[in-house]
Amino acid sequence: MGMEKPAVLGGAPAFATALPFTRPTTSADARVTSAIAGILASGTLTKGSELRRLEEAISRFLGVEHAVVTSSGTTGLMLTMRCLGLSGDVILPSFTFMASGHAARWNGLDPVFADIDPQTFVLSPESAAEVSTSRTSLVMGVHTFGVPCDVEELEQTAARHAVPLILDSAHGFGGVYPDGSMIGSKSTAEVFSLSPTKPFTCGEGGLITTGDADLARELKIAREYGNPGDFDSLFIGLNGRLPEMSAALGLHNLPGVPGYIEQRRQVAEHYRANLHDVAGITFQHIPEGARSTYKDFVILIDPDLFGVDRDTVAAALRGENIDTRRYFDPPLHLQTAYRRWADTSGPLPVTETVAARVLALPMFSQMTPDQVDGVCDAMRRIGAYAADLSVHATVGRA
Ligand SMILES: *Cc1c(COP(=O)(O)O)cnc(C)c1O
Repeated sequence: MGMEKPAVLGGAPAFATALPFTRPTTSADARVTSAIAGILASGTLTKGSELRRLEEAISRFLGVEHAVVTSSGTTGLMLTMRCLGLSGDVILPSFTFMASGHAARWNGLDPVFADIDPQTFVLSPESAAEVSTSRTSLVMGVHTFGVPCDVEELEQTAARHAVPLILDSAHGFGGVYPDGSMIGSKSTAEVFSLSPTKPFTCGEGGLITTGDADLARELKIAREYGNPGDFDSLFIGLNGRLPEMSAALGLHNLPGVPGYIEQRRQVAEHYRANLHDVAGITFQHIPEGARSTYKDFVILIDPDLFGVDRDTVAAALRGENIDTRRYFDPPLHLQTAYRRWADTSGPLPVTETVAARVLALPMFSQMTPDQVDGVCDAMRRIGAYAADLSVHATVGRA
């Protein structure tokens, strides 16, 4: 008996009801609803004790000196760059979420895109060194999909130009560096996102960790319009505060983070074990000793070996009621907003290949082994019917 046809060719879909791409890692038990009721009754909706407690709890959890919570990860990046007093170029990967580059542009800084490592998909230290010049004012690595970037190597490039290194750690909360230290503990500052798709969420929110007391103090002024308290603003800040209700949600979710990440690791291991022998599918490499948060579980699809390209696979999976994402395609240097900066960046062959082949599969802590197997079985059916799907896709596009 042959394999069942993919749904786009007339087979039964793998999932009768839609399998979501992601679900927030939060719970909704009575403790959080009563905490929120207490905040509403107190009349203090912002700048209260929940935020202070959240910052203390995060410092303890990550083992960092200072934790400054903001309204979003983007705000955190913008304010960190603002407080470092930069001018000139920022070296960063093009293969990242747009907010990494936007924060530089909101500060009037020029992005210079460097290439990524073909195995780990994080900023290549060699490429970052190659594109660095006397105009470089900041190096920014990204812990892409939760895999830590090579901080020590990037630090050398930053040191050579006497500029800071910061890390866009939006995906990294709860992850571990190869040396066993927590993501959040390295470089001048690490900036996290606490939005619902990230491993630790407050609904929305951001977080900066730093060992620099002066920077932490300035960031707290910056998220308060630049007002140190006497209404004589010191510089142009903005309102970057996290509301108390969001801080309470964060306090509620924080103790569960190690468990949530362990569940994600098990989902990822299950995917890898199931798909490891499928020709044309490869995975993100995790450096020895490091632990990913698996903010996303991505595969690369080699169209020649698998039989069909990434876009055809994504369309076929949609037919199976499976939601996926093309993270990060298009990469920043190919986005309309960054056209002006595309030419001043280095050649980005790895970025362009990975962006064309990458597909993020459904990943959330609550995902069951059966759901993972359902996605993997659908991938196998798509591979088995690759020839028919290629014809189908060509006809569909005509
Ligand atoms: C989500 C994300 C951000 C922005 O965080 P927000 O909280 O959504 O503002 C920045 N960088 C990366 C890599 C992200 O994925």
